[in-house]
Amino acid sequence: MTGGPLLVVNGKLWPAARWRGADAVFVRNGRISAVGRGRDLRAAVPHAPCLDAGGATVTPGLADAHIHFVPWAQGRRQVDLLGVTSRARALERVAAALVADPAPTPLVGRGWDAMGWEAPPDRAALDALAPERAVLLHSHDFHSLWFNTAAMRAIGLSHESADPAHGRFERDAAGEPLGVAREHAVAAFEALGAQAGPAIDDALLDDAAAALHAAGITAVHDFQRNSTDMRRMRALAARRKLRVLQHVGPEQLESLVAAGLASGVGDAWFRVGALKLFADGALGSRTAALLEPYDDGHGLGIVMIPRDELVAIVSRAAADGFASTIHAIGDRAVRHALDAFEAARAHAPTALPPRIEHAQLVHPDDLGRFAALGVRASMQPQHATSDAFAATAAWGERCALSYAWRAIAATGVTLAFGSDAPVEPPLPWLGLHAAVTRTRVDGTPAGGFVLAQRLTLDEALAAYTEGAAELAGFAGRLGTLEPGAEGDLVVWDRDLHAVPADALAAVRPRVTVLASEIVYDSRPAGAETGVAAAGAPR
Ligand SMILES: [Zn+2]
Repeated sequence: MTGGPLLVVNGKLWPAARWRGADAVFVRNGRISAVGRGRDLRAAVPHAPCLDAGGATVTPGLADAHIHFVPWAQGRRQVDLLGVTSRARALERVAAALVADPAPTPLVGRGWDAMGWEAPPDRAALDALAPERAVLLHSHDFHSLWFNTAAMRAIGLSHESADPAHGRFERDAAGEPLGVAREHAVAAFEALGAQAGPAIDDALLDDAAAALHAAGITAVHDFQRNSTDMRRMRALAARRKLRVLQHVGPEQLESLVAAGLASGVGDAWFRVGALKLFADGALGSRTAALLEPYDDGHGLGIVMIPRDELVAIVSRAAADGFASTIHAIGDRAVRHALDAFEAARAHAPTALPPRIEHAQLVHPDDLGRFAALGVRASMQPQHATSDAFAATAAWGERCALSYAWRAIAATGVTLAFGSDAPVEPPLPWLGLHAAVTRTRVDGTPAGGFVLAQRLTLDEALAAYTEGAAELAGFAGRLGTLEPGAEGDLVVWDRDLHAVPADALAAVRPRVTVLASEIVYDSRPAGAETGVAAAGAPR
């Protein structure tokens, strides 16, 4: 299925250095067909529908290189606690949601961050609102879960229950769970949470894809590691809603290999990605694995997979044709991941490059190893601003190499940017703003906010386009306006390079094109696309 044709004229094509002298791009049959001067292209395709960009920037379609699409799609309809600054306000939102959606199924929410709250999350506070109905509230980083007594009963949790490996339930002196699960203990509620609404159907997922189109996103690297969500993503791609690079989990590997699949297998819509592994936890819960203890007294964090085991898993996967992508947030975890990739070089290279997710803290001794080993860095600029105060408290002086986009890119390593939605909203203008300013949208300079690690707008855009495409094995085919590439582009609402850096969070797509078809159009009705011949030649 292919859309178009469509001629976009009077645009500032990105990157400017590549498209000097050109201001128009023509898409047809799903592809970028031609790039050139508007008057030349108008003459060549006089009957094509024409969109006047009005001097605004035209970029390739953006990718979100780290998203959990299905949970984000479902979470859009659940309790949203992102940015809630007090426990009282969080409880107000829960109360409102209980009224708005009185079904007996568990009420699920996400997004809380108790830092700065007047009281810690506990189950008694939720019990007062929901004595019978299970309530499950994920923290913003999904490494903690706030639950009530009904949820505890539903899973049979009591003071007699032991903590799982790599996880724990917060408890009072008598051992009674207080209502917060950490790390692997969160998994105890997974089956219960799966009973929550809304139902995950095509309409829900298509609606979420449309929200990404409105954000200028036409491709995603998805990190849900289970076969159910993989089927959903494949169907979504088959409906031509998004281009999907699907990473997979260890439990899926055997059957995928048996089916003859490997990293990079697929087409321009759906591709098998890498094996996703967790080397450590996260900063917020102080479970990111460090080489030296946390400055605020939380030990060294948690190594999720011992180094030697990680080395063995990555090598075994490489032997089966699977690249690995390793979640590594602390400097110890990053080192383990690099060690694993170094050992895997004994095997034939995989179709996709090795990559590290997050890489939020890098030890100076490891900085050069990314480039030396060909490891790419998949990072999330919004984490730097969201985590700023936590990073300062936890890592102190080490913050010089935290969220070190500039330092990593300077070694020649390709960066790819994403949101980790639902951890952060998948809105690239927030990522661009964070990457270019390293300041919060409200102007708060991010603590640990090492300004030296800022990027230029062009570097940040590259991480959302060509960088992400390279990590997906699609260099030259996605993330570029090059003729012959897939016909995905964004006409922005202004010239992005004329916007002051601190106003970047205000830019929006005007029109998004996927496979040469307009999938998002913010122009008022009646301003529909004219025909090239009707416009005055420029
Ligand atoms: Zn993630």
